[in-house]
Amino acid sequence: MKHSTLKTPKKADVVIAGAGFVGLALGAALQRAGLDVAICDPALSKKPPDDPRASALVAGAKNLMEAIGAWDLAAPEAEAITRMEISDARLEEVTRPVMLTFAGAEDETSYVVPNTAIRAALFEAAKAAGVSLIPQAVASYEAGRARVVAKLADDSQISAALLVAAEGANSPLRKFAKVRMQGWRYDQIAIVTTVKLEHPHEGVAIQHFFEGGPFALLPMKDNHASVIWSERKIEAQRLYALPDAEFRTALQERAGWRFGEISLAAPRAMRPLELRVAKSFVSERLALVGDAAHVTHPLAGQGLNIGLRDVAALAESMADAARLGGDIGASDVLTRYESWRRFDTMTMLAATDSLLKLFTLPGAPARLLRDAGLGVVERIPAAKAAITKAAAGLSGDVPRLLRGEAL
Ligand SMILES: Cc1cc2nc3c(=O)[nH]c(=O)nc-3n(C[C@H](O)[C@H](O)[C@H](O)COP(=O)(O)OP(=O)(O)OC[C@H]3O[C@@H](n4cnc5c(N)ncnc54)[C@H](O)[C@@H]3O)c2cc1C
Repeated sequence: MKHSTLKTPKKADVVIAGAGFVGLALGAALQRAGLDVAICDPALSKKPPDDPRASALVAGAKNLMEAIGAWDLAAPEAEAITRMEISDARLEEVTRPVMLTFAGAEDETSYVVPNTAIRAALFEAAKAAGVSLIPQAVASYEAGRARVVAKLADDSQISAALLVAAEGANSPLRKFAKVRMQGWRYDQIAIVTTVKLEHPHEGVAIQHFFEGGPFALLPMKDNHASVIWSERKIEAQRLYALPDAEFRTALQERAGWRFGEISLAAPRAMRPLELRVAKSFVSERLALVGDAAHVTHPLAGQGLNIGLRDVAALAESMADAARLGGDIGASDVLTRYESWRRFDTMTMLAATDSLLKLFTLPGAPARLLRDAGLGVVERIPAAKAAITKAAAGLSGDVPRLLRGEAL
């Protein structure tokens, strides 16, 4: 990834702190809508990080990437999920009885894409749109009545109508604005890696719920699969430190034999798991998006997808204001963004947390209850269709970008 060598502009319509997935997507969307965007991130001067993860992008997220000219670049590395199988499993069971399956309509398909490919596609889309890419951190800011001044680490400044914090979970701007987070860390860690499967996966994704945490295998190109394996902290640290052969055996034990023998295809990485949400998604002339506003457990594969919904809602609120000749950083624009996103985010976070708690409840009675519940949902097509639509980001008041339309 190379950054443009543009001089730091003194003025822009919007300054975005953070050139992660969410910051790049927002920058591309707004610049294509005719606004003048600067994205600042010290990482723009470095080689992109080696990220062994892949993300499941739901239909709304794919539509957004299409609308901002990023999907064609990521598509060659994207594998469609044709079916999702969910089981309530115990480690000692050789077979993993499938309790619930999902296979959405064609326009609700999710895709598994390596994170490096998503980032590269969004970066190229932002660059092609003409976004100024500045390899500097935003250190602080000063919000005035009509403008905000972003102060960069090299002491240069950019004046804009709105500053956007897209710097991930530890957002320095969120802290600077004194916006508090609420939530907690789970007693779980995710081990992530990529494996090669013996038998063709045919686009099937599996999620086994073990008492220690959920285990997911997501289909990737060339019969590979992305592993997201959550375990209680101490057990995760033990597993992570195992030599390759023993690690592979433990992995095979969790995955079962649905796809035959599994072989390791990438280094492993560990990620702490948490649920946190900002008390407010906006402050004066400041909007929080993506992980800067909310962090969720990866069990439902929604973190980035929720962040891209923020992008769609904020970009539409700003583009509508600009079209009417209004102030794109005014409090009514920010209020529209916040109310559009808060309820959906809280619902998604609460649903993910309840699912996790339900499935990690130990004991036979809890399991009986869970399995009865899954059985009921499995038999009601309308309930499954509603869940698929909501997870795809296509229910409720859907912003234009999530429908694949231009702003
Ligand atoms: C194990 C695991 C699996 C996951 N799987 C999925 C999945 O399948 N699907 C899904 O939708 N989500 C998934 N997620 C969540 C997803 O990875 C995150 O939600 C997503 O990366 C957040 O993107 P972001 O752009 O908000 O933040 P980040 O990707 O963290 O980007 C933040 C950027 O800000 C920059 N920055 C930091 N400080 C400053 C500063 N002061 N000034 C300027 N720039 C700064 C950083 O350099 C970085 O480039 C998963 C998460 C985990 C832990």
